[in-house]
Amino acid sequence: MSFWEKFKSAVSGWMYGRYGVDAFGRALMYASLALLVVFFLTGISLIWYLSLAGYVWTMVRMFSRNVEKRAHENAVYLEKTQKVRTELRQARVRFQNRKQYKYFKCPHCRVRLRLTRGCGEKTITCRKCGHTFNMKA
Ligand SMILES: [Zn+2]
Repeated sequence: MSFWEKFKSAVSGWMYGRYGVDAFGRALMYASLALLVVFFLTGISLIWYLSLAGYVWTMVRMFSRNVEKRAHENAVYLEKTQKVRTELRQARVRFQNRKQYKYFKCPHCRVRLRLTRGCGEKTITCRKCGHTFNMKA
């Protein structure tokens, strides 16, 4: 067994029964990193302590053996941020397809709609509220 294999085996043995990384852990890590960048830009020591606290919290969660409680924390995080995460994912898709489609909102109910670019002026009937209007793409 090589040194690397022994090392991997030792780490996986030590991590056995511990929680590991989840979406909340990753978010905490990125938030701590962002705080560290803000600290380097501003030099406010309180921000450095907050960043450090975020890293410590991330580590404590990763190596925790209380898997049930950590999973519950992650579920709460996912539930509270679902709207924002969905909005960000949809914004990314809209940005990727911006040359193919024109995106706009229904003027009546604000639901998001799209038209293929270059299709000319169309009369659109909103699928949600039935409002009819003209849109050029
Ligand atoms: Zn509508």
